[in-house]
Amino acid sequence: MSDQPVLPPIDPENPPEGHLPSMLLRMLSTSGARAILSAKPAELGLAENLPFPFLALVGQTEMRIALLLAVINPNIGGVLLIGPRGTGKTTAVRALTTLLPDVEVSACENGEGCLPEDYAREGEAGVCASCLRRLRAGESITRWGSVNMIELPLNARLDDVVGGVNERIAVQQHKVKVERGILARADQNLLYVDEVNLLEDQIVDAILDASAAGSYTVRRGAISGTYRSRFVLIGSMNPEEGNLRPQLMDRFGLRVVVRGLMQKEDRLEIYNRVRAYRGNSRAFIREWANPTVIAREDVTAARELVKEVELTDEALDIGLELVRRLDIDSHRAEYVMFEAARAYAAADGRDRAHVGDVRAVAALALRQRRSQFMVDFAEGQKVEDNQIGQTFDHILNRESEGEG
Ligand SMILES: [Zn+2]
Repeated sequence: MSDQPVLPPIDPENPPEGHLPSMLLRMLSTSGARAILSAKPAELGLAENLPFPFLALVGQTEMRIALLLAVINPNIGGVLLIGPRGTGKTTAVRALTTLLPDVEVSACENGEGCLPEDYAREGEAGVCASCLRRLRAGESITRWGSVNMIELPLNARLDDVVGGVNERIAVQQHKVKVERGILARADQNLLYVDEVNLLEDQIVDAILDASAAGSYTVRRGAISGTYRSRFVLIGSMNPEEGNLRPQLMDRFGLRVVVRGLMQKEDRLEIYNRVRAYRGNSRAFIREWANPTVIAREDVTAARELVKEVELTDEALDIGLELVRRLDIDSHRAEYVMFEAARAYAAADGRDRAHVGDVRAVAALALRQRRSQFMVDFAEGQKVEDNQIGQTFDHILNRESEGEG
């Protein structure tokens, strides 16, 4: 299974469908439902809860590939979608949940997200009263559920994100307890941070730290709580509304530049599909159910296979040479690029990642990592360092002359 021909790069405007990884190819070439124009009256309110099928997305090949790679290999460290509003970013991220296998989640009746491991670690203080009762009765406090997209509200405060003391419980029950925040609720889910460039830095920092560590600790005075938060992070930003600071930008794995589709046929297809979905979302989703089940199996298989994928020596060497020539400082550059290449190979059912896999993901992993400022800064520093060295030598020579 290892030595297939290398893959060409992805040109998002003109995807070489014949050479995309087999899994992606199956997804992109699915000819699905056309508009269901005889739709029943709108199922008001339900459309919000039922994600648009990932396979029914039109165009945006690069965005779809980046999202898939990020869920195949969590080492990639998430995706940043860069582009204007209304280009389907949120729809695509929510749609991604339709491709993910179910996970074991908290079944806490109080919505506190209690988990067996909280009980194991902290004893009865770690779970709510209702979960404690169920655990003591030998009942499970978890169930299997679908992966959700947790969206961070733009006006979220740090306490909402990491959690804080619940004043109401503190007063009513004379029990001070740290409440888990959005990051803990995002555990095993997708965390979508829309307009990440407009958030306060300390909130973005907390999110990125938790994302990297897979857990986080919140301390309020003498009490503290540690929560699991393994999630796939997806951020979006509209560059027209301000930039993300370079050190925050660096911590996102892949970067997709999302543009609106410029082909009339594509836009018509989107219009038709959105209209059908809004008219009767259940019927629309049913139309896409079979290929979605197959795609979900593909993703599950790729997630297993990626653990086995190794890069060839040539792929490593050329990838590192590319980073060197582009003058990129951050070591995250090659890490993300190689992890994405491994995911790309896994999506193609291979356990070897070749040069072509690196080529396919290079722009996604490396764009906006090079800093002209740092290149110029380092050049300027070399000049000063030389001056320091020359002055030193000059003094040394004068001293030795003086002695002589
Ligand atoms: Zn509970």
